[in-house]
Amino acid sequence: MQKLETFIRNVPDFPKKGIGFKDITTLLKNPEAFRASLDAMQKALQGEVDVIVGIESRGFIFGAALADRLGVAFVPARKPGKLPAESLRAEYELEYGTDALEIHRDAITKGLSVAIVDDLLATGGTAAATCRLVEELGGVLHCYLFLIELSFLNGREKLKGHRVESLIQYAGE
Ligand code: AMP
Repeated sequence: MQKLETFIRNVPDFPKKGIGFKDITTLLKNPEAFRASLDAMQKALQGEVDVIVGIESRGFIFGAALADRLGVAFVPARKPGKLPAESLRAEYELEYGTDALEIHRDAITKGLSVAIVDDLLATGGTAAATCRLVEELGGVLHCYLFLIELSFLNGREKLKGHRVESLIQYAGE
């Protein structure tokens, strides 16, 4: 099979000028490529996890499939105002302003081992905020797992202290 990165479409200047958007829909529509990416993510997890936390929304696609493969819990970290029951919120910085993610208070039992899954690591703010939610609930972060890492943005710096796994790395735009 071709390398996984050949299935990622780079869309220049989306959603705004200067951003090279890494479009995964071109990977998802190819059944072998999607399966191969899940195989590799499953392998990269190495070791036991009890819970996969997927970040809205592309983290749901990979996270939920992985949780099913591993036979473990799937927990969504959602954009504000979407979760119906009592939730915790963590804010994080964007280039302009802030955004937030929420998780249900009863989503993770104290002491459970957690992997945080998303499609892409850029500056790391989103994943770091998700880690704060997990740890506030008493979860133990086993690792972060991404399909894609934009290494030139140094997102790992924000995630230090924990294992970070990614399948595809881009050294520049
Ligand atoms: P960050 O908090 O900067 O690490 O941003 C990560 C989140 O933004 C992930 O949920 C990604 O899906 C999305 N994202 C950021 N930059 C890009 C990009 N260049 N292409 C696709 N998605 C991106």
